[in-house]
Amino acid sequence: MTRIDLMTDIRAKPRRKVLISGASIAGPALAFWLNRYGYEVTVVEKAGTLRAGGYPIDVRGTALEVVRRMGILPRLRDTHIDLRRLTFLDGDGGEVASIHPHSVTGGVAGRDLEVRRGDLTDALYSAVRDDVEFLFNDSIDTLDQSGHGVDVTFRGGGKRTFDMVFGAEGMHSRTREMLFGPEEQFHRYLGYCFAVFTMPNTFGLSHETMMWNTPGRAAALYAVGDNDEVHAFLNFAQPEPPFDAFPNLEAQQNLVAEIFADAGWEVPGMLAAMRDADDLFFDAVGQIRMPRWSSGRVALVGDAAYAPSFLTGQGTSLALVGAYMLAGSLAGSLAERDHAAGFAAYEHSTREFVTVNQGLVGEGGATLFPTTAEALEQRNNRLRSLSTMPSAEGRPAHSALTLPEFMPMASGHAR
Ligand SMILES: Cc1cc2nc3c(=O)[nH]c(=O)nc-3n(C[C@H](O)[C@H](O)[C@H](O)COP(=O)(O)OP(=O)(O)OC[C@H]3O[C@@H](n4cnc5c(N)ncnc54)[C@H](O)[C@@H]3O)c2cc1C
Repeated sequence: MTRIDLMTDIRAKPRRKVLISGASIAGPALAFWLNRYGYEVTVVEKAGTLRAGGYPIDVRGTALEVVRRMGILPRLRDTHIDLRRLTFLDGDGGEVASIHPHSVTGGVAGRDLEVRRGDLTDALYSAVRDDVEFLFNDSIDTLDQSGHGVDVTFRGGGKRTFDMVFGAEGMHSRTREMLFGPEEQFHRYLGYCFAVFTMPNTFGLSHETMMWNTPGRAAALYAVGDNDEVHAFLNFAQPEPPFDAFPNLEAQQNLVAEIFADAGWEVPGMLAAMRDADDLFFDAVGQIRMPRWSSGRVALVGDAAYAPSFLTGQGTSLALVGAYMLAGSLAGSLAERDHAAGFAAYEHSTREFVTVNQGLVGEGGATLFPTTAEALEQRNNRLRSLSTMPSAEGRPAHSALTLPEFMPMASGHAR
C-alpha cells in the first residue's frame, strides 16, 4: 500500500473514538496528537473549567520540541516568566547565596521555558478546542472492557463506548486506581510534604525567588513578575506521609503551622496568609512508578503513570513528551496498528526517558532541602561556590529522547 493509498484508506474509515480523562497538560496534549492522527477525541474533566493561573512550571529539552511541533512555542515564549534570581537565606533571614535559578535547575537560558501552569494549559486547550469535544464538570464512574471496546458510564449519568480510554488525571488518578488498584503500590514517597498558595506581594519582589531554610524546612516566596501576588511555598521533611491530613484542609493547615511555629524571617506572615488562602494545595512529595502503563484498552499518561515530583522540575516535560509518544505509537507507521502494539511501543520508546528523569531526584533535587544541620551547611557551601551565570548546557536527562517523526497527518492539518 502506498502512502497515498494509506491516507485515503484512513479517511474512508470511521474515526476511532477515544476518551481522555483530565484536561491539564497530558490530557490536552494527547488530545491534540490523537486528533491529528485521525481519532475522534472526547476529553472529560472533573473541574468546571480549565484551571487558570497556578504555579510556574518548566518546559525543557525534548518537551520544547513537542510544543514547537504543536505550533504553540511562540505563544509560550510570550508568557515566559524569566526568573532572574534565586536567593537562599539562613534561619535568621541572612543571605547565604544569590544565584541564577538555572544554576540549580539545570535549565538553559534563552532556550528552556518557565510559564505559569495556567498559561500552558490555556495554550494547549486553544490548540484543540475546535476539534475535540470537552466535557467539563464530569468524570468517569465505571469502565467495562468485557465487550469490544470500553463501555464508560459517567458520573453525570451518560453512557458511551470508546475504542480506547486514557487516564491523564495526575498523581492521584482514579482511572489508575480502577485498573491497577490503590495508589500506595505505585507511590514512592520522597520524605517531604509541601503546601503552596498565593499571597499578596508586600515584599517588593520581582522575577525572583527567596528561599529560607533550616534543617528539614524550607519556606519560599516566588514572584513570577512585577504583579501583586507571590507564590508561597512551605516544604518540610516528614518521615511518613500524613495520611490523616490529606482529606482535611484544616488538618493540613494545622500540621504546617505546627511544623513552622518557631520559624523566623517572613514565615509567620506566610502562615497567616495560608489560613486565608482560597487556593491552598497540600500534598506529599512523591513519584509514581509503575511496571506497566496500560491494561487492555486503557493507558495512562503524564503524572498518572510516572509523576517524577516537583524536585525534578520535569513533570510537565514528561507529560508533554509522554502524550506525544503515546499518540504517535498508536498511529505508528500503520494506521491499523492495534492498541496492544501501540501501548507496547509507547512503553518501549518512553520508559528510559521517564526513568532517567525520575532519577534526577537522587542527583540533586532533594539535596536542595537538607534535613540535618551538617547537610544544610554543605549545601550552603556548594551554593556559595556556584556561578551566578546561567547554565549553557542543561542536564542531559532533559534531552535524553530524540522525538521520532510519526506518520503524516490523517486529519488534514498542516504542520
Ligand atoms: C507545587 C508544584 C510545583 C511544580 N513545579 C513544577 C515545575 O517546576 N516543573 C515541572 O515541570 N513540573 C512541576 N510540577 C509538576 C507538574 O505540575 C505536573 O507534573 C504536571 O502538571 C502533570 O500534568 P498532568 O496533566 O499529568 O496532571 P495534572 O496537572 O495533575 O492534571 C490532572 C487533571 O486531571 C483532572 N482530574 C483529576 N481527577 C480526575 C477525574 N477523576 N476525572 C476527570 N478529571 C480529573 C484534574 O482536575 C486536572 O485537570 C509541580 C507540581 C506542583 C504540585
